[in-house]
This record gives sequence, C-alpha cells and structure tokens, in this order.
Amino acid sequence: MKAVRVSSPGGLDALQFVDLPDPKPAAGELTLEVKAASVNHLDLWVRKGLPVAKYPIILGADAAGVVLETGRRALLSPTLSCGTCEFCSSGEKPLCVKYTILGEHRDGSQAARICVPAENLIPIPDTLSFEEAAAAPLVYLTAWRMLITRGRLAPSEDILVWSAGAGVGVACLHLAKLSGARVIATASSDEKCARLRDLGADFVLNHAREDVVKRIRELTSKRGVDVVVDYIGKDTWARSVQCVRRGGRIVTCGATSGYDPTEDLRQIFFRQIEIIGCTMGNNKELQDALRPIFEGRIHPVIDQVLPLKDVAEAHKRLEQRLAFGKIILKP
Ligand SMILES: [Zn+2]
Repeated sequence: MKAVRVSSPGGLDALQFVDLPDPKPAAGELTLEVKAASVNHLDLWVRKGLPVAKYPIILGADAAGVVLETGRRALLSPTLSCGTCEFCSSGEKPLCVKYTILGEHRDGSQAARICVPAENLIPIPDTLSFEEAAAAPLVYLTAWRMLITRGRLAPSEDILVWSAGAGVGVACLHLAKLSGARVIATASSDEKCARLRDLGADFVLNHAREDVVKRIRELTSKRGVDVVVDYIGKDTWARSVQCVRRGGRIVTCGATSGYDPTEDLRQIFFRQIEIIGCTMGNNKELQDALRPIFEGRIHPVIDQVLPLKDVAEAHKRLEQRLAFGKIILKP
C-alpha cells in the first residue's frame, strides 16, 4: 500500500511516499480502508523530530473510510490508552502515561489502510462526506476539551481565539458559537478575517495590523475576555495575558510559534489568571464533539483536498500559515 512515512526527522524532504506491505490486524483490531486523511500541526512536529515519536512512522492522526471487515463507513478515533491506570479508570484517558496518538507513537492514517482496535472506529452517517469526517476528530476533540471541559466556557462569556483560521481555530469558533459565547477571532489577512466573519465570529481582528490588546479593551469595555485560546505560544502569549480579564482563563494546547514565551508572573498572581494546559480528549468528549457534525449543525471547513503523494505541499501550506481549515489527503 502507499503511505506517507518519516524514517528520520528533518525538513520537507524527510517526507517519503512509499510502498509498504498491507498491515494485518492484530487480535481485536479492524482494518480501515482510508478514503480521506487529514493533516495536523502534529504531523509537522513529528516530521521535524519528537523525542516520543517512534521512527520510521506513518504520519496522520485523522482518517475516514470503510471498515474492510464490516463494510461500514467510519472515522478514526485518533488515540489509544492503557485502559487500566488511575487516569483511564476515571475516564481521563488523555492523562494516561501510555497515552498513544496515531501518527506519533504508532503508525498513522496517511496510508491506503490502517489497522486499529475496533473501538477506535466510529460509525459515521451517510450524509457526512469522508473528507468532512476526516477533518473532524483531532481538532474538534481538542477544541471541545479546551473550551467546554477545561475552559468551562459559559454562554454569557467572551472568548478570544488567536489565528482562528487554523484547523483547531475553526473548531474553537464553531463550538464557542454553538455554546452561545461571544467570539472574538483573529487572523493574519483580510481574506481570512472575512471568512471568519462568514463562519459566525462576532468580532474579527487582523492581528497583522491591528493592536489586538487595545481592540479587546475597546470591545469589552476595558474588562478583557473571559477565556483566551492560545496555541501560538511565543508570538502571542504576553498579549494573551493582557487580553484576559481578572480571574479569567488562558487555555493552551500547542505552541506553533515557540514554546518558551517570556512570562511576567506578577500578572498571573495579582490578576489571578488561570493557565490551563490541555491536549486531545477522552472518548466521551470525542462523542460530544462529533455529534453536532454528525447532525449537520457544524460543517468542518476544508482548505484543500490533495493526493497523498503531495503531502509536502500540505506541510508547506501549514508552515506558511496559508491554510484556512483542514487539508485533506486522498490515498
Ligand atoms: Zn491508562
């Protein structure tokens, strides 16, 4: 089968489009014939080198397709855990020390086939395309846990989402609107800003030319927003701290611009700000996040659909922050 593999970390040339033997399901596993797989920032980190990643590895956490053994349409739940530790026992799978993400700790979805435990295959309605289904799991799962579970977002609240045109950003915008909150979204170009407005953002700021801190103060009568979603890191962190209200929450699930921002701790303790770390989510959160998509209340936004062999083009678009929504690869 054809697959996107990284044997040793590096630049775009580390991406190999290879022919591999078809995988065989282990006991309790089923085979997904992949019709669409999506690209996440995680793939870029794995390609560049992560200490926890096992090389060589097939990239990709997300996919949708047809289960070979049953003929059912399904999407891939992107994570596995031990199932028995104290965290798994309390339903907190993402805290499991043996937590596994497809395409990071074991072979992923950017291939013609993938074998996974049967519980990792979630049936999808016939009304949902494979492309939309493949765009959903990782980013909506992440967004749900960030906003709803960990961020405790309430309908009366204001939320700031930096770079909301990214895959996870669009998911945050969708779920924040669904929860009834007022959403302030930022993007780096007027074109992306217009698209965010079309998706329902209440206010949109072009962070390339607007003073976001000043604008947030104006929009919230100097109060600041209740919740900030920041997965940009170094470039935005200090401003996130300035944008959040006293006692507000900053939720982080990534650091695409760098993971070591400067931090003025006085701002954190005097203004009693909560910094909330978050990654992926548990099975219940995935079900909750997918339901509005299965019901057609939310449509994942697809930036481009590319053949699997053009994976380098997808990485380039994500790296240059050109993508709006998710890039889909077709085997
Ligand atoms: Zn566990």
